[in-house]
Amino acid sequence: MIIHLKDNINAEQAAGIAEKINAFHTVSQGKNVLISGSGMKDVPNAIEAHVDQFWVFDNDIQLASREYQDEKREVKIGDVTIGGHQNATLLIGGPCSVESEDQIRDAAQLLVGMGLTTLRGGCYKPRTSPYSFQGLGLEGLHLLAKMREEFGLNVITEARDATHIHEVIEHSDVIQVGAKAMYDQGILRACAKTQKPVLIKRGFGTTLKEFVQAAEFVLSGGNENVILCERGLRTFETNTRFTLDLCGVAWLQEHTNLPIVLDPSHAMGYSYGVPVLAKACVAMGIDGLLIEAHRNPSVAKSDASQQLNHSEFKQLLDQIRPVAESVGYKII
Ligand code: PEP
Ligand code: MN
Repeated sequence: MIIHLKDNINAEQAAGIAEKINAFHTVSQGKNVLISGSGMKDVPNAIEAHVDQFWVFDNDIQLASREYQDEKREVKIGDVTIGGHQNATLLIGGPCSVESEDQIRDAAQLLVGMGLTTLRGGCYKPRTSPYSFQGLGLEGLHLLAKMREEFGLNVITEARDATHIHEVIEHSDVIQVGAKAMYDQGILRACAKTQKPVLIKRGFGTTLKEFVQAAEFVLSGGNENVILCERGLRTFETNTRFTLDLCGVAWLQEHTNLPIVLDPSHAMGYSYGVPVLAKACVAMGIDGLLIEAHRNPSVAKSDASQQLNHSEFKQLLDQIRPVAESVGYKII
């Protein structure tokens, strides 16, 4: 249950009222809000006098639900907005990993030359093998910060575990919580304590409900700047790396108020399929599209087979633009 308290109640009083009914106190939509688990079906008598409005839920998708807030949330990334009513798809590009200053500068120049604003690049890579390239760590974050300075780009990079979450928060404009880290409560709780936007990628064996509940951790902890990212599920199919769950995207659009980004690069796993999938994604009217691109994919230190080269990335923009327009969207 979500309870909006009356405006005359301050934060301290709200915390006291929350304690009385064993609920959670947070601030949402600028109001003092109490949240309890979906077990609570009625406002307890003891607090009735303080209640302005309330919503009852039969599961723990609450702050993210359309029943609570029908309007899609807007998340500000620097001067750029993702979500809301703008009917725009934010194209996020860049390599899987930050590998060197030269390499990430090439990527930054590509984006700036195309009029794009948001550079991605991993510095702490959640690799399946301990012997693979693990990312440049803090050195990579400094390189991203340099690109932000030089080119005025927003940067998005991943927190792999809670040990370096504060470094990532400090140096990024959007914190990416990866598919493997999505269940990490240390990361989610740290993300809740900042106001930086958080992009949560869906785990590849995660139900939609679990996915949105991860977002609820961040929302209820005090950070309303949450973006969801579908990047493919593990199925019985082995010819593609994962299976992009577009049905799931339709469900999220119907039932949640969070901006949605799609990542066809990790889903497909092979660059040949990325442009056509990107068109399918954009046709759904989505808030963002995340595409991996590298100046020379064949020598990329991670995810080599799925990254577009820079000329393919430019062509992709030409290919998705008319699709976006056909559904009343623009690519930003
Ligand atoms: C990535 O974005 O490079 C990445 C590791 O993605 P995921 O967490 O979706 O596997
Ligand atoms: Mn990758």
